[in-house]
Amino acid sequence: MTDCIFCKIINGEIPSAKVYEDDEVYAFLDITQVTKGHTLVIPKKHVKNIFEYDSDLACSIFSRIPKIANAIQDSLPGVKGMNILNNNGEIAYQSVFHSHIHLIPRYQTEEGFKLSFTDNSKSYTNDEFQQLAASIKKTIESVS
Ligand code: 5GP
Ligand code: ZN
Repeated sequence: MTDCIFCKIINGEIPSAKVYEDDEVYAFLDITQVTKGHTLVIPKKHVKNIFEYDSDLACSIFSRIPKIANAIQDSLPGVKGMNILNNNGEIAYQSVFHSHIHLIPRYQTEEGFKLSFTDNSKSYTNDEFQQLAASIKKTIESVS
């Protein structure tokens, strides 16, 4: 895609600090370095987000992640964990619309990264909870 910043990075039109490349996948340091070693893993095929993946593309991108994650941990002293994030859609904080997976190594509790999950379990009766699952399950079965 001609006006996509990540397509330009893949094509070498915009410089990047590359950490990995093969026929289908490219990985490079995120410019913001939320933590040291913060890396983006992207498919070479331009897809906007997870809603445009098929299972082959998902296999190619997600199968590379353990290798890259382990390399980050093994090459940077002090990495104790890693958050792997993928924002899909503006509402979910996606700002670059070429799909990418964030690998954010974690060194300590207080650093440039916060994530909080609200517990809304009290908002659902057991029936509502089961119906929610049934609805998603039915849709999965209708497309499989
Ligand atoms: P999003 O908010 O879409 O999940 O993440 C987009 C990420 O792309 C951001 O973390 C941002 O720092 C990174 N980014 C945007 N433009 C560039 C760039 O030109 N080079 C690099 N290396 N990272 C970029
Ligand atoms: Zn692109």
